[in-house]
Amino acid sequence: MTRRSEQRDGRGKRRRRGHLEDERPLVRRVGGRSRRVRVVYVACEGESTEPDYLEYLNERYGDTGSTPFRIQPIYRKNGMLPSETVEAVSEIAAEDEAWALFDRDEHHDILKAVKGAAAGNVDLAFSHPSFDLWLLLHFQAFGGTQSGSSKLVIEKLRQTDAAFKDYGKRGDKSIEAARRDALERNQDNAVARARGLVKSCPHGSCAPGRAVTDPVDRDAGTRSPQQWAARSGHAPDCPLLVRDPSTDVWRLLVSLGIHPTTR
Ligand SMILES: [Zn+2]
Repeated sequence: MTRRSEQRDGRGKRRRRGHLEDERPLVRRVGGRSRRVRVVYVACEGESTEPDYLEYLNERYGDTGSTPFRIQPIYRKNGMLPSETVEAVSEIAAEDEAWALFDRDEHHDILKAVKGAAAGNVDLAFSHPSFDLWLLLHFQAFGGTQSGSSKLVIEKLRQTDAAFKDYGKRGDKSIEAARRDALERNQDNAVARARGLVKSCPHGSCAPGRAVTDPVDRDAGTRSPQQWAARSGHAPDCPLLVRDPSTDVWRLLVSLGIHPTTR
């Protein structure tokens, strides 16, 4: 069931809320106090792995932190292009918090996607070559340019943890049960390694400590695509397409309070 509503934000301004396909209450009791649930819309390029991963974050961490959250994954059968993720989340989230999660792969519309995200205050979780890199970093460090190919990343991922032994075989790229447990056990390592990739970026001026993880106000003024892509900690003049390998997914975890802010 889809719901659309309006409500006033902290400044008394009327805010148009997104379509939330979830009927659970948006206020929860945490530590004896009523807390408003933070709703975050995340559009995914992929149709299986990323939505499953986001549901895992909801299930394991949605109620555990000081600010409860609920991610609304947005995806389509057969996936979306990067620029389509930005368009979809801009429409569905209305003025609620919005992220777009997409891969380098060999797409030709990455810069269009970033431009749209910057113009619409949609935060980015970009992975180069792919989201599979984020999964791999839970288990081992990884370096070396991949030019958009995930082949080596997936091969290594299959060798790391038994739960991922058949990852990607017969189309099984789901993140369920044992895979969720394996990720949870190694999450801190994944964040540290992803930050390490920012630090070791060949550009030379990229620093994970400069990454921005504050929730984005959709009404905020717009910035240049370069400034927007620098929320990752990479320098504004570090071209997105040569951040190889890299993944910004760790910023979503810090933003949601799943992982502590590290400076
Ligand atoms: Zn860089």
